[in-house]
This record gives sequence, structure tokens and C-alpha cells, in this order.
Amino acid sequence: MNSRKTFALIDLSAYRQNLVYLSGKASPAKLMVVVKADAYGHGAVELSKVAQESGVDRLAVAFLEEGIKIRQSGISLPILVLNYVEKKEIPTAKEFSLTLSLSSFAQLENIIGLNKQLPDFQLVVDTGMRRLGLEWEESIELYNSAVRKGINITGAYTHFATADEKGSGFVLEQREAFGRFLHGLGQRRNRHFETHISNSAGTIYFDNSDFSYVRAGIATYGLQPSKETDENLKPVLSWVSCVSFVKRIRTGYSVSYGRTFVADRDMLVATIPVGYADGYNRLLSNRGYVIISGKRCKVLGRVCMDQFVVDISHIEKPVSIGDEVVIVGTQEGESISAEEIADLCGTINYEVVCSISSRVPRVYKKGVN
Ligand SMILES: *Cc1c(COP(=O)(O)O)cnc(C)c1O
Repeated sequence: MNSRKTFALIDLSAYRQNLVYLSGKASPAKLMVVVKADAYGHGAVELSKVAQESGVDRLAVAFLEEGIKIRQSGISLPILVLNYVEKKEIPTAKEFSLTLSLSSFAQLENIIGLNKQLPDFQLVVDTGMRRLGLEWEESIELYNSAVRKGINITGAYTHFATADEKGSGFVLEQREAFGRFLHGLGQRRNRHFETHISNSAGTIYFDNSDFSYVRAGIATYGLQPSKETDENLKPVLSWVSCVSFVKRIRTGYSVSYGRTFVADRDMLVATIPVGYADGYNRLLSNRGYVIISGKRCKVLGRVCMDQFVVDISHIEKPVSIGDEVVIVGTQEGESISAEEIADLCGTINYEVVCSISSRVPRVYKKGVN
């Protein structure tokens, strides 16, 4: 049921096109697509299916549960879990054929003894993110210890801290440190040992031909990984609602909680049945815009939990209850991007799409091919 005509429309053909584009950028490295956080709010199961059909080689998620959900939907692609998994759940990874990430000696101590219940691992090497993983020298030791203990290490990776900054020297330092690590492994790693270093920004900016994969998230969803990139990507998500109420207000009338907006003239306003509980950030109070009848309409007063009010005084043709409202996306040539909303909220496009809550149904548009 969708009693308030509010949904996130997910354009699967745009997603496919982005995958093709990024595969080209990554080549000869292959594409591992990051579908953590329910594919950045787009729906991990549905998008993973499209990724698998499109010939993507690998998936990555943050947490074990995310991998299990995708596996249970019938996806057979290898899935790498990037983040922490507690000891008692490690056999579950094996059960669902998920690859885990190994980042410390403490974790290694925890898992030895599990023997046949042990899944495959990839090593996280810290080259500058200081979030997970050991420095390159210690990572060689960790690798050697793990292998000695019979753990199957199928690859190693690191993560850039500044790949989104064009010409960042730190990226080169990180690559070099990772190179030292790989060199240190020498003959001890086999031909099939997988290596990956680039996120979306790294996929766009760098030559990844020394590595087997790139790990692309944000760009697969058609969103720019940096303010400095302007890649030919197609936004996959749009967010649409409707008008739930229309009202004339007089000069001096205030709108919403706290009376932060007071009309300085007679106005026509419309209510939208979406609020911060849907992920429409309260920082958009008195700042955000939506599109109605092809015109940008400003948010008046505070965004409430389930509703907000916009100015429609400048719309010539009558606005009625049920009329389409675009929160993110395009209508009659006018557009609002996740980036625009991110700027208004002092954050990044990643957070805007990840924040659209489960109360907003995702509707999948298949498109051709
Ligand atoms: C989230 C994540 C990615 C994907 O980053 P994007 O900037 O969205 O491409 C890649 N690698 C790791 C380790 C991550 O946590």
C-alpha cells in the first residue's frame, strides 16, 4: 500500500548504464560493486540481481547480515564483507559463502581453532585511513601468520582517504605503501590473489591496471564521488511525493513549529506528506526546495516528522491535492539533485540517499535491455 503516493523510484536501466561506464573506466581491473547500506538506500537485493545479470564480478557489503540477505535472494556472486564480524558469527559467513576481512592479530587469534567452519578472508591493509588494518610491514606478518594457521587468504586491499581530491599526493603515498606490502608477499601469493585499492573516485581518477578489482559504490548509483568530478553518470534514484493539502495564508501568518517562517505577504502554500522520519533532513527547514508543476518551491518553516510546507504562490496553474511533487529528480526540465540537498545540509550526496528511510517504498523501473 502507498496511501500517500510517496516513493523512491529506482531506474535499473540507469544503474546498468553506470555499471557499463565504470567497467570501462576500471578495465582491465574488474568491477566489484559496493552494495552496503541496502545499496546506499537503493535496495541491495534488486540491484545485486541487476549487477549479476550485467556481468559484474564481485559484490561488497559492510556487514554480515547484508551479505546473508543478498545470498538468500539467490545471488551466486562472491560477496566480500568489509567490516567487523564478531567471533561467534564467523561460521555463519562460511555457511553463506561470504568472504570476510582480516584486519588484526587479535581477530586472527579469535578465529584459529574454527577450522572447517572458517570462511575465506581478505586482508585489510592500512595505508592511511587509520580505520581498519595494520601498517604494511605488520600486514605482511599478519598474512604469514594467517597462512601458517591454514587460513585461506584470497586477497588484500586498502582504502583511500583522499581519492576524491584531484591530484592528491596522499593517494600516491597510499598506493606506494600498498605496493610495498604486495612486494613483501612476493612469491607467497598466488596468481589468483586479488588486490583492490580504488573506491569510485579512485576508479575515475587512477589507472587501476595493477590491481584485480576496483570497489565502486557511489558512482554506480549515478552520483558523483567528488565535487571535482563530472562523469557521465545517470542518477538511479529519484524521490517523488504528492501534495496533501493546499492553503491560502495571510501576511503575518506563521508556518510550522516554532513559527520560524512568517509570511510578509498573502501566500499560497502546499503541504507534502514527507518529513524527517522519511529522511527529509530537518536542516532543510526554510532552505530546501521541491518541484511542483515544473517550478521550484521553497520549504517554509520547519520540516516536521511526517510533513513539510512549501510556497506555491508563484505557480500560475491551480495546484491540487494529489499533484506530483519531486523531492529528488527531474520534472518538466527542472531538477533537484542529491548533491544540492547535501550542500544545504552540510553533508555529502552519500548521506542523502542512505538516509531515505524504509518508510519510503522503493519502486523499481526496469527499462529496456
Ligand atoms: C564504502 C566503501 C567503498 C565504496 O566507496 P565509494 O566512494 O562509494 O565508491 C569502497 N571500499 C570500502 C572499504 C568502503 O567502505
